[in-house]
Formats: sequence, C-alpha cells, structure tokens
Amino acid sequence: MEILRTVAELRRWSRSARCAIGNTIGLVPTMGALHAGHASLIRAARSACTHVAVSLFVNPTQFAPKEDFGRYPRSFEADCALAASEGADVLFAPPIEEIYPNGPNSTFVEVPGLSDRLDGASRPGHFRGVATVVTKLLLAAEPDLAFFGQKDAAQVAILRRLVTDLRFATEIVVCPIVRDADGLALSSRNAYLTPSERAQALSLCRAVRHVESLVAHGELRADVLIGAARQVFAAEPAVHIDYIAFVDWAALEPVAVAAPGTLFGVAAWVGSTRLIDNMVVR
Ligand code: AMP
Repeated sequence: MEILRTVAELRRWSRSARCAIGNTIGLVPTMGALHAGHASLIRAARSACTHVAVSLFVNPTQFAPKEDFGRYPRSFEADCALAASEGADVLFAPPIEEIYPNGPNSTFVEVPGLSDRLDGASRPGHFRGVATVVTKLLLAAEPDLAFFGQKDAAQVAILRRLVTDLRFATEIVVCPIVRDADGLALSSRNAYLTPSERAQALSLCRAVRHVESLVAHGELRADVLIGAARQVFAAEPAVHIDYIAFVDWAALEPVAVAAPGTLFGVAAWVGSTRLIDNMVVR
C-alpha cells in the first residue's frame, strides 16, 4: 500500500487507475483511529472496486472550537497496518495545508437545511466542515463509489444531497453499523470512555434495540417509540440525551408515524463524550 500526501498525488493515482477500461475507484474517507467499522467499509470497497483509496484526515473544520480536535485519537502506524491488511491500494494522509491551502479563509460547501438538523443542531458548523472536506476528496479522487457508515446517518443524508446537488459522478454506498459484542456501536471516540462510562454508553444501543423490537411488533407511532426510548435512558441518569428522533432519512424532518426508510436516531452525552446510534425501519 502506497501512502500519498498531496492532492496532486491522489489525482495522479486516480487518473492512472482510470486509464484501463473497466477499472473502478472506491474511496473510504476516515479520520483515522481505524477500528472494525472502518475495516468493514474498506472491505466493501475492496469487493466492489478494482482500486481502493482510504483517506485519513482529522478535519479541523468539522470541530467546533471547544470540541475534541486536539485530543482526537491518532494512531497512524496502526491505521496503515489495518488499511493495508484490508486491501487498500493507497492511503491518502495529507497535512492540513494540503486540504486548506488558504487556511481558515477557505471556500466552503454548505448543504442548507439538513445541516442544522439532528447532530447539526447541537454541532453548528459541523456538517459544513464535513461537506467541504468530502467535496475536496471527491474532486481529488473522482471515485465511482464512496463508502460511508450508517452509524453517521445524518452525514449520509447530507452527502447524498451534496452529490445530487453538485452532480458528482460518485455513488454513495452506505455500510451497516459494526458493533462490539455487547452492542455498543464502534466509534473512535469510545476510547475516551472510562470503564463506568463504557457501561453507561450501552443505554444508546439498548434504546435502539428496544425501539427496533417495538417496531417489529407493530408499534409505529413516533411519539410512543420516542417515549419508550426515553424510558430506557431513565435507567441511566448519568447519560444526558442530546436528541431522540424519528425522521425521514432524506429530509431529516420529524415524522409522526414510522415507515420503511424512517431513521430512528439517538445522540447522548456520556461524561464529556458525545455518542450516537441509530436504526432504519425496514
Ligand atoms: P470517522 O473516522 O469517524 O469519520 O468515520 C469514517 C467512516 O467510518 C464514516 O463513514 C463512519 O460512518 C464510518 N464508521 C464509523 N464507525 C462505524 C461503525 N461502527 N460501523 C460502520 N461504519 C462506521
């Protein structure tokens, strides 16, 4: 696996991969601290595409000033080993100035409306940063397919809107949430949790599973389902709910009745760590 540091190198790699008819490029954008969730995205890309790039960039513009940009986990050597073992052809790990050559006075990409809902409501500017960095990555790598996790379900809705609006020739592929054996959704931020917080954090997946089972038994009223999820969190008073929502997965607008494709999402603070989880009604 080759390590690329500049946009020009990534563009050269992508264009030369395209020279042969039938070649397809898959891109897996990440912020590093790779775990089995990221590995599943790389594997999906490997099985769908002839050429696979993984990007590793802790994007400063998607962190608010008081968020965890400075202490976000970084494990470059282990990330290289994982990406290589899952079959990535290149790892794109640029320095900040390669992505933001004009520093903070950069050109930004906004996806209006959607960016202020769910996680965007409590993290102003977050999705502007995400939309901007993903746009830059898509322009550089020109992938046929770009792989993202359902775990960040609002991000998926925003990126689907972005590629449609900007007419990117890239298809967004969404991969299922990978969980620990006890159900906790894998996240690079789980590394922040103390053992007791780790136990409290299970309330998120318990709430998701409880709602999933109520839906499977025919309960589709969003207010009842949200109330049931709140009951699960009531057993864990140290966990502070940010949102519990039933929304249309495309518009991220609340729905009154769950239907196939509806997204049930939760976000909560466990100590100083904000965690998310979700499920999509099938
Ligand atoms: P991140 O490095 O946290 O920005 O995540 C990079 C990509 O990995 C995003 O598309 C995430 O949705 C995805 N991802 C993160 N955690 C998981 C997980 N537990 N299961 C599946 N995909 C995940």
